Amino acid sequence: MIGIIAAMEKEMTLLKAHIENPSVKEISGISFISGTVHGKDVVAAVCGIGKVNAAVCAQSLILSYAPDCIINTGVAGSLTNKLHICDVVAADRLVQHDVDTTALGDAPGFVSTVNTIYFPTDPTVTAALLEAICSLGINGITGTVATGDQFVCKTEDKRRISENFGAVACEMEGGAIAHVCYVNKCPCAILRAISDGADEDADMSYTAFAEKAADNSARALIEFIKRF
Ligand code: SAH
Repeated sequence: MIGIIAAMEKEMTLLKAHIENPSVKEISGISFISGTVHGKDVVAAVCGIGKVNAAVCAQSLILSYAPDCIINTGVAGSLTNKLHICDVVAADRLVQHDVDTTALGDAPGFVSTVNTIYFPTDPTVTAALLEAICSLGINGITGTVATGDQFVCKTEDKRRISENFGAVACEMEGGAIAHVCYVNKCPCAILRAISDGADEDADMSYTAFAEKAADNSARALIEFIKRF
């Protein structure tokens, strides 16, 4: 079974329309819809915005459905001129850019207890997602995606995140999902289409393009499921 998580309804609209024989279960205030897409078992949930909502959802999904993998679909801000509006990134690793214990001598983003900065995605699933993206004629790359509880909309913050972590995109849930998957040994992938440039125009760009971008990410995911 493939577990699918999106932060917002608009990121799940297209996928939901493809779920056959849906049945719904409520866990921790989140609706989990299980069914099939292109004959494959899936369970899909809208987790809400931010790291804690995403973590609650990923942990609940793992404990209740024991998925083969979890894929996060949605939108993100671009941190590179390689990713334009509606392009898609399949993350090869995630970092939580807002974790900061540097005053105690730790490196930026270092998560104590698990003692790592970067959380990996599953290379096989990620490569297959990239193939699905490209097969649709969408521009896609892999790279580091940075997560934090903050809508990044200042050039200064954008530069700091890309320079500190080599990240190509920023969002608010992927790093939490990858962290939960890491401690549960559940393969994961993070797929994000660009809604904005994480700069001073990000609010206007996000408002104009989030839905279109969200659909691009979902289209790539549906194509991946078809080939899975
Ligand atoms: N109240 C708004 C909040 C959206 S927050 C709403 O409900 O629509 C932005 C969402 O898009 C988050 O889920 C995040 O993962 C993603 N995102 C897109 N651009 C982003 C950026 N520049 N910085 C951080 N997250 C971004």
